[in-house]
Amino acid sequence: MSPDKLTPDEDQPGPLESDSEKADSAGSQSVGSDSAGPDGPGSDGVGLGSVKRGWVRPGWIVDPGEAEAAALALDEGDPGWRELFDVPPVHSGGYPEVAYFAGNSLGLRPKATRVELLEDLDSWGRWGVDGHHDADRPWLPYHALLTEPAARLVGALPAETVVMNSLTVNLHLLMVSFYRPTADRFKIVIEDAAFPSDSYAVRSQAAFHGYSPDAAVVRLRPRDGEDVLRTPDVIEAIGPDVALVLLGGVNYLTGELMDIPAITAAGHAAGAVVGWDLAHAVGNVPLSLHEWDVDFAAWCSYKYLNSGPGALAGAFVHERHLDAGLPRFEGWWSTEEASRFEMAPESRPPASADAWQVSNPPIFSMSPVRTSLEIFDKVGISVLRERSLRLTAYLEKLLAGITATRPLTVITPTDPLRRGAQLSLRIGGGLRAGALSETLRFEHGVIADAREPDVLRLAPVPLYSLYHDCWRAVEALAEAVPENA
Ligand SMILES: *Cc1c(COP(=O)(O)O)cnc(C)c1O
Repeated sequence: MSPDKLTPDEDQPGPLESDSEKADSAGSQSVGSDSAGPDGPGSDGVGLGSVKRGWVRPGWIVDPGEAEAAALALDEGDPGWRELFDVPPVHSGGYPEVAYFAGNSLGLRPKATRVELLEDLDSWGRWGVDGHHDADRPWLPYHALLTEPAARLVGALPAETVVMNSLTVNLHLLMVSFYRPTADRFKIVIEDAAFPSDSYAVRSQAAFHGYSPDAAVVRLRPRDGEDVLRTPDVIEAIGPDVALVLLGGVNYLTGELMDIPAITAAGHAAGAVVGWDLAHAVGNVPLSLHEWDVDFAAWCSYKYLNSGPGALAGAFVHERHLDAGLPRFEGWWSTEEASRFEMAPESRPPASADAWQVSNPPIFSMSPVRTSLEIFDKVGISVLRERSLRLTAYLEKLLAGITATRPLTVITPTDPLRRGAQLSLRIGGGLRAGALSETLRFEHGVIADAREPDVLRLAPVPLYSLYHDCWRAVEALAEAVPENA
């Protein structure tokens, strides 16, 4: 790109570099190269060394009662990785830190993100255009740094995986390739409780191809009196006129984890293409997209992946589609890297998911994803899932102690294999979810997510949530929601 560059001396960092190096030594030691953590490598066999687990019982907890002491004992025996994260200060409620249950909406910031993002920002100041090649993490191949860790996290081959764009944009780019309606087969199956963006995306795709969105989009509803879908009902809905099944791996509202392999296989048997929106599944539950034969998938990185607001999203295209000549919207990043700068009029796309890229990527949005994926690599999704199962079961048990006498019902499946970290509560008694979440936040320092009118979502996140947080949330709910008359 820049043949006659002047190469600054590597050993003379500018003023910004020395700042960031100071910050680095102060803040990132636990994520950087610490391979001597107590747990050894993540149990998924990646073997990159683990990061330090840790939780130091804060000095502000004095004289706990019996239930609180039990929660504290669990935290001591089963600490997560909270020390790696910045936990926001509390609004009120007598604790210095919030009890954060909104990691399914926006994950907390890893401390290392600040340091490493500044390093990338400083590369720009130091190198200008030459940073494309010469930065410590050069920008030209930057996205490739994310490919392997993202692939490991979703159970994919690196060639099947790319980090790019935003989630809904990726869904559209993938539907360009995978929604190929014909007069006999044009329907798209989604959940009625789909995230609105997905609903708008599929409706607009149907309209783009000249079909009526109302006729084309089939919305799956739970049976009367039930809150979540049943796998056999989903499978039965995939008739011979279905072109595409596009479901959430974990439903954003109910927290239901779908049977991805079974539905994918059934969709294929019915002649449909099967794609998954993994916004609430990635970083939450283990995935094996390649083995499950999923056609395509997309996910965002700001929920369980803790990569910051609007962070770059991911996409997966199964290996068997990579060289199949599917239609695609292309740009200069779709063409193979080796000849990209020949500036030829026609693209030469590689046989990998990289071919779905369009533009050169925003490095400063990619940087937090890289940092975050490093944490997932080091901890291991199976280790995380194990702690997640324990933490969510604990929250469920505490909730059971207050829901029987209050207008609160857990609508998430009770089977741990049918859910991730999140538990969703339906609220009755004329209380609105938004008002309740405000009470929790402003009076108790408990951050939960409300979906109006009547769903409150609590996601204990295994990387940083505490048993003590669960205890606080349930105490707060018990106080905020009056008992049945
Ligand atoms: C969070 C979420 C989105 C958000 O879409 P963006 O394109 O990232 O703004 C879309 N779909 C689902 C299922 C989600 O959970």
